[in-house]
Amino acid sequence: MDILLTEPERMLQRQLRDFVQAEIAPCADEWDRRNELAYEAFQKVASVGLTGLTVPEEYGGQGGSLMDALIASIELARASVSVASIVGTHMGLALGGLYRYGNEDQRRRFVVPAAKGERLCSYALTEHDASSDISRMTTTARREGDEWIINGAKCFISNGDRADMVLLFATVDKQLGNKGITAFVVEKGTPGFSVGKIEDKLGIRAESAAELMFDDVHVPMENQIGEVGKGMRIALSILDEGRLDVAGQGVGLASAALDAAVAYSKERQQFGQPICEFQGIQWMLVDMATQVDAAWLLAYRAARLADQGQRFSKEVAQAKLFAANTAMDVARKSLQIHGGYGYMKDLPIERFYRDAKILEIYEGTSEVQKLVIGRAILS
Ligand SMILES: Cc1cc2nc3c(=O)[nH]c(=O)nc-3n(C[C@H](O)[C@H](O)[C@H](O)COP(=O)(O)OP(=O)(O)OC[C@H]3O[C@@H](n4cnc5c(N)ncnc54)[C@H](O)[C@@H]3O)c2cc1C
Repeated sequence: MDILLTEPERMLQRQLRDFVQAEIAPCADEWDRRNELAYEAFQKVASVGLTGLTVPEEYGGQGGSLMDALIASIELARASVSVASIVGTHMGLALGGLYRYGNEDQRRRFVVPAAKGERLCSYALTEHDASSDISRMTTTARREGDEWIINGAKCFISNGDRADMVLLFATVDKQLGNKGITAFVVEKGTPGFSVGKIEDKLGIRAESAAELMFDDVHVPMENQIGEVGKGMRIALSILDEGRLDVAGQGVGLASAALDAAVAYSKERQQFGQPICEFQGIQWMLVDMATQVDAAWLLAYRAARLADQGQRFSKEVAQAKLFAANTAMDVARKSLQIHGGYGYMKDLPIERFYRDAKILEIYEGTSEVQKLVIGRAILS
């Protein structure tokens, strides 16, 4: 796939692969066992500029493209989808939105420290009864003088328990449906803002998914992001970039699972020969390699379209849908090729298998991606 990258992109890929091998891969299993947000991972990625990769340099970032962000997501996920998810939520979802829709003052106050990795961000859209269908949102924002008063709760918020600030979506009037949704920044320590249940998850156990509670939280007008009623548009446009990141996570996980399967199948001997010489195993590897390449191509296409400023909602939904499916399928086949050893926690394939499932769920389930693609095809 390198042939599709420019020389600077290939260089970034090589640098990140070395960094991930040295700093992330050796810790990934231990972070997973701890079952809490791996804050050290956030600090490590901050030290190489990944917390602000796509943010312009004048706002504390690296000025990278969405292709750069995709490359980073793939390389991180080759070692840990949890770490890729921490970064994707912080930079792709929260910072991406704050930079694009924030005014100059908000960029200085929120984007600069977050891009430098001094502050961790989360993105809070989902509620217990409003997720695939966001119009059912019940978290409210009521205007009082020059403040907004927020009440409600969000659930499953990645980075939520450790985040210094949250990009929050609330409705100014439930009767307005999508047209009432508005975006705000709520900072940690604001009275009435607290963390509720922290989920115990199947996979990506080194990132956290938390409930966030808002009980008469006073937010200054200066923390309103974009116009009143434009929150839905903001949330969805950010999600397109988030989906590119999740597609990258799928490609990264699947290619690591494929590499592990190829290496193991050459080493493991049964019936007097390496198991890769059995046609049944080879055909699995062939299918896996073909799926991984196709997932890579779809993700690259979506990133190039995005960087050219073209519409890419359909293409990124296709990339996310296919990459998530590929990650699930390739992780399952790779574990099968590893036999009983693959089922044990001694090898990372057991973690890849658990981590793959989330890719079909967050940032829009696979069914929701099909809705997006279907509407685009039929429009
Ligand atoms: C680990 C984790 C981290 C997360 N991080 C964040 C975060 O940082 N910020 C955030 O805001 N959210 C986050 N989420 C929430 C995530 O985006 C939602 O879980 C996801 O959108 C699905 O919502 P739901 O779980 O309520 O399922 P539901 O919306 O209740 O869907 C249930 C099932 O119905 C299907 N379905 C729904 N509508 C349709 C339809 N029209 N046609 C066909 N099928 C349909 C779905 O595909 C799914 O299979 C996270 C979730 C998890 C598990």
